[in-house]
Amino acid sequence: METIAPLAIHGGEKTVGRSFPWPVFDESEVEAVADLVRSGRWGDPDCADTVETFEKEFAAYCGARYAVSCVNGSVSLRLALIACGVRPGDEVIVPPYTFIATASVVLEVNCVPVFVDIDPDTYNLDPKAVEAAITDKTRVIIPVHFAGQSCDMDALMDLAHRNGLKVIEDAAHAHGAEYRGRKLGSIGDVGSFSFQSSKNLTAGEGGIVVTNDEALYRMMASLRNVGRMEGGQWYDHFNPGCNYRITQMQAVLLSRQLTRLEKQTRVRDANGRYLGALLDGIDGITPLTRGHGETLHCYHLFIFRYEASQFGQLPKRKFVEMLGAEGVPCSAGYPHPLYKQPLFQNKNFMCYAIPETVDYTGVYCPVAERACLDEAVWIFQNALLGTREDMESFAEAIRKIQRYVTA
Ligand SMILES: *Cc1c(COP(=O)(O)O)cnc(C)c1O
Repeated sequence: METIAPLAIHGGEKTVGRSFPWPVFDESEVEAVADLVRSGRWGDPDCADTVETFEKEFAAYCGARYAVSCVNGSVSLRLALIACGVRPGDEVIVPPYTFIATASVVLEVNCVPVFVDIDPDTYNLDPKAVEAAITDKTRVIIPVHFAGQSCDMDALMDLAHRNGLKVIEDAAHAHGAEYRGRKLGSIGDVGSFSFQSSKNLTAGEGGIVVTNDEALYRMMASLRNVGRMEGGQWYDHFNPGCNYRITQMQAVLLSRQLTRLEKQTRVRDANGRYLGALLDGIDGITPLTRGHGETLHCYHLFIFRYEASQFGQLPKRKFVEMLGAEGVPCSAGYPHPLYKQPLFQNKNFMCYAIPETVDYTGVYCPVAERACLDEAVWIFQNALLGTREDMESFAEAIRKIQRYVTA
């Protein structure tokens, strides 16, 4: 009889014997920041020099005409919404399977987040459900390229054009990823990115918007810089902006990190394809499907669906604990869809343009519910920077748990 290896969670040997550092850097990052520190020019109220240089580099990388950096990937969404001309009470379509900021920034600009369910194969906004949710109040759609997999942009852009809506891509997971050969973030009216520490391009914190629309660019640049306009005086304030500028230190670090991004993205894409093929061979494990136009997937997360019935009814959260103990950097993800947060259930909005009739207690998106409660398992992007052997060890860790719990 085959002997069953003891699980690492019970003191057995770990399947994965190494760690996966993030961020990845070397002395060139250290020198770039040290040079900047020595220069004494730590900030720059005109966003010139290093900040402008990085913005130009990032816009060019994305194939977009303009970029405006800002303090984080929440404020970047906020700048985009205001520049798109939302008015109090307008509806903004968002997925329920995302980070809180995608929906909370909508409240911050006195608009109503409308949660629309995701596609079970991609965990991205389902265009048919989006179409059904459009009303005469809808003004913006915010597709989130969740995990770095592109949304169905052809369908969403078509819907937006037919209904006179703006599209703000939340590309906080999607630096470097491509849809039909175009970089994500450059397809909608605005693309928004985060440089928070977990993201595929990071300076610890930071954010940026990219756009091809000159008017949107000028407005977002002004809102980021206390309402100043290019060519105006420092005391001339034209728009209701705020100081959302990043520091020169962030900018030099991001410029260095950007030189690594394309290669890292291609490594994650290749490893993701390989890991997907390996996991397809395990009963009860189904990687999210590719083939929806994502010509380059940046795997901010590698997501697979877990079926407890193939694992002796082991609950997902217990499975993920075991997998983590085996050395796979992973998470069970969001425990509930966003609309279940007390913020929405209790309507604790502290903004007064949301109609009384808005009620989230009856919202139910079955695909997002299943993803949160039962199915979705995330492997983090830094693990996808490993070798093919590492991918094989992740698959082996899952098989080891399966053998153990079904013995
Ligand atoms: C991280 C993230 C954001 C917000 O970025 P911050 O820089 O943390 O403010 C927005 N949307 C999604 C989907 C994210 O994952």
